[in-house]
Amino acid sequence: ASALARAESLIGSIADYPEPGVVFRDITPLLADAEALRATIDALLEPFAGQFDVVAGIEARGFLLAGAAAVAAGVGLVPIRKAGKLPRPAASVSYALEYGTAEIEMHDDIASGTRVLLLDDVLATGGTLEAGRALVARLGGEVTGTAVLLEIDALGGRAVLGGDVHTVFHA
Ligand code: IMP
Repeated sequence: ASALARAESLIGSIADYPEPGVVFRDITPLLADAEALRATIDALLEPFAGQFDVVAGIEARGFLLAGAAAVAAGVGLVPIRKAGKLPRPAASVSYALEYGTAEIEMHDDIASGTRVLLLDDVLATGGTLEAGRALVARLGGEVTGTAVLLEIDALGGRAVLGGDVHTVFHA
């Protein structure tokens, strides 16, 4: 099988994690495999060659992809963190979860007009990436691409993102 097909086979499904009734998609076996990781990062970046100045990864699993993608693409990396973790002045955006709210932050010194490729591991309802986009825009950056390793089709996140998201694998 191709490296990408094998990479897909390395994504696990863990029943009842983190709570009963939830099926958690586990990308750690894919990350642990050199060939699968390389093929996945290449596929994640493929549509966006020459279209971004930095990658922004969303905490926590988005960081794992963003580091690899930044080095592969020859660009730098900006972290988007959960609230209260960044050491310097940052902007924040809150968004709704099924129960309660979440908040993500990014340092406020990104140069105006910087073209950002926004990365995360999994697209579920789309709230996290939508908030990431809002954060980059608020700081004067331009999101020129949004990409995920795995999209959970049934949760409708693609529509929330206006259909504008690149996905390597679907569940
Ligand atoms: P959304 O905001 O509902 O699209 O959820 C996406 C966020 O939740 C991402 O940052 C993911 O890391 C995380 N997430 C949701 N479902 C899963 C999963 O099954 N496996 C790993 N991460 C998940």
